[in-house]
Amino acid sequence: MRLAIAGFIHETVTFLPEETPLALFEAQALRGGALLSDLAGSATVAGGFIDAVAAAGVETQGLVWSDVSPSGPVTDAAFDAFLAEIIEGLRADAHRIDGLLLHLHGAMATPTRLDPEADFLAALRAALGPEFPIALALDLHANVSVEMLAGADLVCGFHQSPHVDMNETGRRTARLMIGKLRGEIRPVMAIAKPPLVLPSIFTATALEPLASIKARAKALEAETGLLDISVFTGFAYADVPAIGFAVVAVADGDKARAEAAVGELAAMIRAARDDLFKRELILDHETAVAQAVVRAAEASRPVVLLEHADRMNDSTYVLRALARRPGPRVAVPYLWDPESVAAALAAGPGAEIDLQLGGTSSARAGGPVPLRARVAFAGPKRFTGTGPMRKGAPVDLGDCAVLVAGLITIVATSRQISAIDLDPFHQFGLDPLDFDIIVLRSKTHFRAAYEAIADRILIAETPDWGPADLATLPYRHARAGVYPLTG
Ligand SMILES: [Zn+2]
Repeated sequence: MRLAIAGFIHETVTFLPEETPLALFEAQALRGGALLSDLAGSATVAGGFIDAVAAAGVETQGLVWSDVSPSGPVTDAAFDAFLAEIIEGLRADAHRIDGLLLHLHGAMATPTRLDPEADFLAALRAALGPEFPIALALDLHANVSVEMLAGADLVCGFHQSPHVDMNETGRRTARLMIGKLRGEIRPVMAIAKPPLVLPSIFTATALEPLASIKARAKALEAETGLLDISVFTGFAYADVPAIGFAVVAVADGDKARAEAAVGELAAMIRAARDDLFKRELILDHETAVAQAVVRAAEASRPVVLLEHADRMNDSTYVLRALARRPGPRVAVPYLWDPESVAAALAAGPGAEIDLQLGGTSSARAGGPVPLRARVAFAGPKRFTGTGPMRKGAPVDLGDCAVLVAGLITIVATSRQISAIDLDPFHQFGLDPLDFDIIVLRSKTHFRAAYEAIADRILIAETPDWGPADLATLPYRHARAGVYPLTG
């Protein structure tokens, strides 16, 4: 048996003005043997695919894999190029490929497609035959549609946010696919879509009542003998018809059993509706900064200030407020600012330069903050990830700069990436414990690395495109009746 492996992964913030071009996917793409050798054993879904296939004595073929940080709509050219490449790869070896292990995020959008993953799967089946076996691994934040489900033989999602189980999800998906192809199981699926969507900041799976819903899904799997159950929270910042929660169950031949399970879990989610929104955790950003400064003066470990509504790793509300309150030692890891990085490279290490930092990805990003800074490092940075979510995977930040403005240290990047582990410190010779306040922009993923070192976590609401208050966003395509968008 031989299984092909491919991934085309993007979480799309449809409200952002800048599109995400093919060049960004190309810059992150791994192909063929490099895909297999670079990602085997890593924390990624591909790592899980590769590990499970090897353990089962099945052959693999790497097609293409590209995972780009969340940003604005994916260009149709990027969608078309990756689809064509995967179809081409499958067709070229059609005589010896028995099926495809595919990872898509599940919350992609393009300017002309509101359910691109469903279109992607339909096009694969149109090219390779309606029975061509496809096993699909999706992100917990997927906006799963009925059409998406119809395009695959089986669908498995991450159970956890932070997504520390990506490798395990790849393994689950691959093991079920191999079982199906060997004739040991006959996967059939059911889906339910309770009509609500959670802001990402509330999707940490350790938070109640989400933790209990997840636990019930796991217990149901064992009680009912289902092959797999996934609870998807959806992605609130992709304005698409399928926005919001979904529960997917995979049964061995018995569809009624899958239907009963997703029905029970959907009812549980509907009943927990108001408690899922942990609004009491959110502070306006000025209050959050003021509290962080007071706390940092007493704490022995860093206070994490979470500018969670930022979706491009460049918003400046918290940095601007902190620059007005000198005192604490502040770290701003992974601030996306290609122009400041270029200026630092031109000036060289040791130079003092005037910068306009961040805040330009959209009109809601806060605008640039003027700071005079010393260049402590400027140059390219590539390494193998070490954190719980990027362990063993190649990380290429492109050109970067470490900028020191008084007591504020900024690690500026030319490639947009979220700080979710300690690499933004350790890879640059910095120690997170040397700082009083650390400014992060992750929603849940940072918890896997930072909860252990933080004195506390303060969540700051800003007017950016990823707020906890979804009423501030101009939805147009979300289907009617999805709470809290329309009732
Ligand atoms: Zn996710």
